Amino acid sequence: MSYFPYKNGELYAENVALADIAKKFGTPTYVYSKAALLENFFAYADICKGRDALICYAMKANSNLAVLNLLARHGAGFDLVSGGELLRVLAAGGDPAKCIFSGVGKSRDEIRLALSHDILCFNVESVAELHRLNEVAGEMGKVAPVSLRVNPNVDAKTHPYIATGLKANKFGVDFEDALETFRTGSKLPHLDVIGIDCHIGSQLLDDAPLLEALDKLIELIDTLATEDIPLHHIDLGGGLGITYADEKPVAVQDYVSRVFARIAQWRDTNHHGKPIKVIFEPGRSIVGNAGILLTTIEYVKPGTEKNFCIVDAAMNDLMRPAMYQAWMGVQEVTRREKPPATYDVVGPVCESGDWLARSRSLAIEPGDLLAILSAGAYGMTMASNYNTRGRAAEVMVDGDRVHLIRRREEQSELFALESIILD
Ligand SMILES: *Cc1c(COP(=O)(O)O)cnc(C)c1O
Repeated sequence: MSYFPYKNGELYAENVALADIAKKFGTPTYVYSKAALLENFFAYADICKGRDALICYAMKANSNLAVLNLLARHGAGFDLVSGGELLRVLAAGGDPAKCIFSGVGKSRDEIRLALSHDILCFNVESVAELHRLNEVAGEMGKVAPVSLRVNPNVDAKTHPYIATGLKANKFGVDFEDALETFRTGSKLPHLDVIGIDCHIGSQLLDDAPLLEALDKLIELIDTLATEDIPLHHIDLGGGLGITYADEKPVAVQDYVSRVFARIAQWRDTNHHGKPIKVIFEPGRSIVGNAGILLTTIEYVKPGTEKNFCIVDAAMNDLMRPAMYQAWMGVQEVTRREKPPATYDVVGPVCESGDWLARSRSLAIEPGDLLAILSAGAYGMTMASNYNTRGRAAEVMVDGDRVHLIRRREEQSELFALESIILD
């Protein structure tokens, strides 16, 4: 069901009219539905219940403390990609023992921070990182739990910027080199090699490439077992897609049950019945359609070739269209009884790339509100201050209540860290 329904021609978030949110908090504002977030999380969690499985929400999709806290309270762990994200988890009341640390460029300081909080695992992406991790753990008198990110070289069939499992990619260790890298890791004294992971891409609509990747990881786990490198978990990354336009992504439940079925079949045959934990790192599929970006139309600018609808949100608030040519749904917050016209919805930023939607049929007037749909993932987390624009406010709706979960940035805050040279 949609948590952003029309009621008498007015768009709502759960039981709250978006027009009321705009009146109270201004625009642009990200609006999240708590019920939608939880429904998406439980799509994973319900099937994982009673199994040795952990959902590590990929927080780079949306790392607002209220979002993290909500998921943590329902048992989520986190997939993080920086030291800053770990500090966010801690501030949100999350459990570092349920955190995994991904990313190709972990600094010594970040490694030290993560070791000091005893995170669940480091998802290591290169031989150089194994050595650095071993060194830092040694200095601290610790043993670092390690999983190796393997590049299964399967084609995820998604946008090139969000495909991560192919060879020509900065992520992970090539499948052919994986065995040797595991051997290296297992010989280092301050590492405990406990897992294997992959993350082949994002906005995947079909789970076939994910299951293909699973098969390749399983093959490797069997080989490693014969070399006395037993693994305790298998981490399949995130990547499941959502509906932006008319995509039909595989249902989370179907994908997750197919993973468990495949693992059960494998354990019955040649994994000697040893238990293995399964980790998922979903990001977009948990928050993507749980949020919208609420914006006000500043001007309507008719043209000979195109009509422009200029809104107060821009590429600095929502990068996806400019960065990935992403298609985002746009809806009028109040439906008007007038014939629609076709518009490009653009922001005030001085870049031709500053557009949010192209060629949309809208019945609008200046001053009207628009909702950019499915903006909950990779929206606010990618926002910047380009053009000295303060970042949007964020609110979370829970039934008929609205909570401000991040206030709008004040303009004076935007240069508060800077200084003039006096000489
Ligand atoms: C971004 C990322 C994810 C989440 O991807 P989604 O497509 O948002 O589910 C998971 N794992 C890793 C390592 C990532 O970089």
